Amino acid sequence: MDRIYLSPPHVGPVERELLLDAFDSNWITPLGPHVDAFEAEIAEYVGTHSAAALASGTAGLHLALGLVGVGPGDDVVVPSFTFAATAFAATYLGARPCLIDSEPGTWNLDPDLLAADLAERATARRLPAAVVTVDLYGQCADYDRILPLCAQYGVPVVEDAAEALGATYRGRAAGTLADVGIFSFNGNKIITTSGGGMLVARDPEHVRRARYLAAQAREPALHYEHSEIGYGYRMSNLLAALGRGQLRGLPGKLARRRAVHERYRAALADRPGVGFMPVSAAGTPNHWLTVITLDPALGVTPADVCAHLERHDIEARPAWKPLHLQPAFAAAPMLGGPVAEAAFRTGCCLPSGSAMTDADVDRVIDALLGALPATG
Ligand SMILES: *Cc1c(COP(=O)(O)O)cnc(C)c1O
Repeated sequence: MDRIYLSPPHVGPVERELLLDAFDSNWITPLGPHVDAFEAEIAEYVGTHSAAALASGTAGLHLALGLVGVGPGDDVVVPSFTFAATAFAATYLGARPCLIDSEPGTWNLDPDLLAADLAERATARRLPAAVVTVDLYGQCADYDRILPLCAQYGVPVVEDAAEALGATYRGRAAGTLADVGIFSFNGNKIITTSGGGMLVARDPEHVRRARYLAAQAREPALHYEHSEIGYGYRMSNLLAALGRGQLRGLPGKLARRRAVHERYRAALADRPGVGFMPVSAAGTPNHWLTVITLDPALGVTPADVCAHLERHDIEARPAWKPLHLQPAFAAAPMLGGPVAEAAFRTGCCLPSGSAMTDADVDRVIDALLGALPATG
């Protein structure tokens, strides 16, 4: 039996053909026709005017925060319950990540804590330079509350939709809900370019400027003129070709991830002590990963389940370790914490790849049930 991975790349003949087209055309460069086409196709898919293809999602976050004005000495509000890259990006600009707990309903940035924090900061004249929202595991944050709050204080919002391509919130595409949004095409995401990212923005000028900064801030002169500091953050034409193939398969991948999720739900719903990451009625998640929760009363931790599945050659992972518990962010201020801590203590990510067969899912379920205490 083959190993079952958490969320492996899922590629096919379309990707192969496009990649070879890029190869044969000798556009083996950063930029090229596939980059332009991939940008246009992503923009169309999420319903915006333009997009900037980048080397990674993290590069996108770095540029996004700079675009909305974050600089040295600033505070940037970031949810604690996320992948570290969300907060790393703020530090690249010399800003300080200020962490906030999750809300129980989505496991994303808690709007009540944010409201209290912004009110207090307004009084102290220490408003953050930006708020970063994360659409964790492919489910959107509570934008109906977060966006008006930030608008009230004039604080820009950056949406880390690295995990959420294909998800929607009140019918609008994840990534397009805030001032600037980013996607990741890392190897484990819902579509991949092996490594890559994309930036979208409400203001077309932000996208144009992201492209310029990502291309070493090179101005149009024969001798390469630079009046600003730039970055080597552009996506290569080869990888954009791969991404175009992946994007064509996205509807099918979304449907499959949902079916995998539903199969887990059907098999585990009645299992005492086993729950699922909450799903908000405001949106449709992309089901990037199915996350179950294990009641501590079961006496089985996510780490126990991962170790047990590993013995069956199945990869699983605990939920993200909150950033306020990470040594790298030990000095970061933190507001609240019990929701993220509970999600980390109880959450376990199950294999969710779009290439999984029903038999693969059943193999995971069987192995998982073997890790849980027997029921009567
Ligand atoms: C994957 C991920 C990133 C980083 O994306 P890369 O393309 O790997 O740089 C950022 N934020 C979150 C929430 C992610 O899951």
